Amino acid sequence: MYIDNYLSLRYSKESLPLLGKLLVDGKYQSLWDYDTTVLPRKVRKWRKKAKAFSRLYIRPLAPVVDNNPYDFDPQPLIKEATRWGFQTIIMPFPFGSAALMPYLRSTTLQVAVIAEEFATECGGLALLLLAHHLGVAPLLLSGHIPTWLKFLLPMYIKGAWFAKPTTMAFAITEPEAGSDVEDSIGAKDAHIQVTATPVNGGYLLNGTKVFISDGAIADQVTVFAKIKGEEVDSWTCFLVKKCMKGFSAGRREKKMGQRAADASELIFDNVFVPRRNIVGKLRGGWALNQNVLNYSRPVVAAMALGHARGAFERALHFCNHNYYMGKKLIDYKEIQYELADMLIKLESVRMTIWRSCAHFRACQSLSSIAKVYASDMAVEICKQAMAIMGDAGIYHEYGVEKALRDARLTQIYEGTNQINRYAIIEHQYTTDVAIDTI
Ligand SMILES: Cc1cc2nc3c(=O)[nH]c(=O)nc-3n(C[C@H](O)[C@H](O)[C@H](O)COP(=O)(O)OP(=O)(O)OC[C@H]3O[C@@H](n4cnc5c(N)ncnc54)[C@H](O)[C@@H]3O)c2cc1C
Repeated sequence: MYIDNYLSLRYSKESLPLLGKLLVDGKYQSLWDYDTTVLPRKVRKWRKKAKAFSRLYIRPLAPVVDNNPYDFDPQPLIKEATRWGFQTIIMPFPFGSAALMPYLRSTTLQVAVIAEEFATECGGLALLLLAHHLGVAPLLLSGHIPTWLKFLLPMYIKGAWFAKPTTMAFAITEPEAGSDVEDSIGAKDAHIQVTATPVNGGYLLNGTKVFISDGAIADQVTVFAKIKGEEVDSWTCFLVKKCMKGFSAGRREKKMGQRAADASELIFDNVFVPRRNIVGKLRGGWALNQNVLNYSRPVVAAMALGHARGAFERALHFCNHNYYMGKKLIDYKEIQYELADMLIKLESVRMTIWRSCAHFRACQSLSSIAKVYASDMAVEICKQAMAIMGDAGIYHEYGVEKALRDARLTQIYEGTNQINRYAIIEHQYTTDVAIDTI
């Protein structure tokens, strides 16, 4: 039990002379507040804003949509998120809503802090809102001015200036090509079947993509296809619009977690895509894909962190309000060790993620390290939270079992954690530094 006497933390400051008091910390604020203060001012604002949004809009929806994801209409939430500026956050002001100066130091930090807040309340709704950025990323990273002018700017101006949302999705995975298209060594043997056949004025797309987040609700999809008669090195990114003839969404997967976001099959049946809808360069798809993943992995890591933080916060609340043999759970040493252990993990994960975002350009090793570490730790933390809550841990109403189900998925997408380990090592091979001198 916490006792506020002369041995307490508070007294250790108050008993000091004035100059001593100036040197010690006595704010007793939450770790969330401590961490927020190390962020650049405008990023701090986004963190607070995302927390407010999540509590207001995501928290009440989370259990309802998790129970019945198929009857959920996501458009009002997407509209609201666009109005708050979250759906245009990967572009800086004046075209998007990211603060310009911190963006020039880190393109991903603002998205990452938002992702953690959303995911603390609900993994599915977080993915629903964030997968859009993954769909947009190839347009941005193409560095192709006509692509920016034709597609990116109108969409962002519409979103940032008039709060009119456009939802995008990103499609690389196929029934026989999952990890293969996320690892540069495996890719050369990948069984890719989505094919673009050159025709007059453009290409005909045929084949099926699977597991595409927001696939069923997206207005536009960045789709990767090989050119007919060639292999993965011909991979090209095409912008496919929902209204294009022959394009449809098929089966929606029934997932263990993040259920609010659809993971859908996308079917391309002779879809004519005009040449002007090629994103970046013809045959430039592989490079785009790899770089998009390097940018998106820290954001997935931040989602994993959010799931784990959500589980921790719920477990802490439970231990503060439940008794065992007349004593509050939080007053048992064993429970305190567990909670402290979870906090150590949460803090070290957050610092790893923020560290991985500390560059303007995403660094492959750091992105994958953050993704693997955060998702593995998140699963562990969620299990610890469930363990200290006993049978309440498995009740739907407490949301901790949901956090575990949500967290487990972050070990799979954006490359499984095995594949991300290859990415970490691949990056070391491409530096001049020998592995043993890192
Ligand atoms: C919720 C969710 C959302 C998703 N959203 C999208 C999306 O928006 N867009 C998209 O394109 N895709 C998406 N995916 C697909 C995701 O990226 C793939 O599921 C992932 O890459 C794994 O591919 P796979 O499922 O085919 O597994 P497989 O590639 O079949 O892997 C099976 C197992 O084998 C291991 N393995 C495979 N190859 C190797 C190897 N060379 N060495 C060691 N181990 C290996 C894997 O690590 C894994 O454990 C999503 C998936 C999920 C679960």
